[in-house]
Parts: sequence; C-alpha cells; structure tokens
Amino acid sequence: MLLPIIKLKDVKKSYKFGETTVEVLKGVNLRVTPGEVVGIFGPSGSGKSTLLNIISTLDFADEGFVEILENEISPKKFTDNELALFRRRYIGIIFQSHNLMPEMTAFENVYFSLLLKGYSPKRAKKRAEDVLEILEIDKSKMHKNIQLLSGGERQRVAVARALAMDAEIFVCDEPTAELDKKNAINLISVMSNLSYTGKTFIIATHDERLLPFFTTVYRLEDGILNLTEKKEV
Ligand code: ADP
Ligand code: MG
Repeated sequence: MLLPIIKLKDVKKSYKFGETTVEVLKGVNLRVTPGEVVGIFGPSGSGKSTLLNIISTLDFADEGFVEILENEISPKKFTDNELALFRRRYIGIIFQSHNLMPEMTAFENVYFSLLLKGYSPKRAKKRAEDVLEILEIDKSKMHKNIQLLSGGERQRVAVARALAMDAEIFVCDEPTAELDKKNAINLISVMSNLSYTGKTFIIATHDERLLPFFTTVYRLEDGILNLTEKKEV
C-alpha cells in the first residue's frame, strides 16, 4: 500500500468581489498515491484551476488541510520563499498554453533550467537531450526555436523541462485544450508512461479523449470532488 503524496481534507476556497463572496471549493477531499494519473473533469467555472493552484502550492486553502509529500502546506509552515523552493523542487506545472521561454530553442529551455539548478554545462546538456528524447522531441526538433514547434511538441517540451528538474508531481491545467487528437493522445501517452516510473499526474480537463489513460477520474461539481472511476495502479 503506497502512502499518499497528496492529501486534501475539507478544503474550502472562496473569492470576494466587494460585498459578495463566491464559494468555489466547499469541502474538497482527495488522496493521491505515487503513479496515479488523475483526471479532474468539471464545467468551466467549477473551480478546477482553483483546486490545481492549491495542489501546486501556488495558493493556500482558506480552510481545511493540505499535505503534499508529507509537508503541510499552510502560511504557518512555509514562507513564500520556502514554498517557491519546495514548488521548484517537487512540482511541475503545465498550463493550457506552454510557459516556455519563447525566444529559446526546446533544448535551451531545458538546458538553462538545469544550469540554474546547479548542473554543470556538460551534465545539463546530456540530461536535456535525454529528457527531450524521452518526450519524443528528436534531435532535429530540439534546436529549433520553440515557436517553430507544434502545440503538442511545445507541451512535451514543458513536460520535459519539469521532468529534467526532477518534479514528482505534475499539475496540468487543460494541457490538451489546444491540441488535435493525435497530439493530445501522444501527450497523455507519454505522461502515462512516466507514471509507471512513479511520477504522479493531476490533470484538469474537458477532454474525453484522455479518459482511457486516467487511473482515477473525479468530477468537480458544486464545489465538491466526486470520485467516478478508480483503477488499480
Ligand atoms: P475552472 O478552472 O473550472 O474553469 P476556476 O477555478 O478558474 O474554474 O474558477 C472558479 C470560479 O472562481 C469562477 O467563478 C471564477 O470566476 C472564480 N475565480 C477564479 N479565480 C479567481 C480569482 N483569482 N479571483 C476572483 N475570482 C476567481
Ligand atoms: Mg480553469
């Protein structure tokens, strides 16, 4: 029995607009173990991004308990700086549109992140090439400016960069929203392959094409997360 690496208990989150308060998360419970590929479905505005921001430690819950990799995530336990370091070390964040450096090549995007992490140039080069190949960005694509790559290739570069940085948890917000079927399936396939090495994926989506690849599926409805499917991993 694997220990959970993500635990949320009765998590609540609201936003205030002047006098009115919108309750977005009304008591979310979630436990995720290593190697799970979790799909979170829910209509637009249901709070998927709000929930992912809490899991990725970009935002704190108002109430309830959040634990990531055995660390309680709360303003009492972490300063902003400590939390930024924790996030950089353990969490890869993949958005709908990639957040890569647009003026760089695929290789440089991964390589410079590794230099900043303290890798020597030689080790950074080898590791950048290795992870890009795992994500099926071959040598002919690696040295192109990322603006010359397709949307699917750019998403795979974003995953490669997170993988190179040794992320344990990949938090992905509608990662296939801008991809055609072939690229969407390719992206979720490489994610699924990485999950067999113990990496964990939390993916908010509307994309029914991804369903066969999830080990666990939830629906976020009326501020509550409901389990709809769970396979053994
Ligand atoms: P989803 O990702 O499922 O579309 P969101 O989490 O983005 O949903 O939004 C849920 C609700 O919270 C929406 O009503 C949205 O307008 C509101 N909301 C989200 N982020 C903020 C914010 N930073 N400030 C105020 N309201 C927000
Ligand atoms: Mg969203």
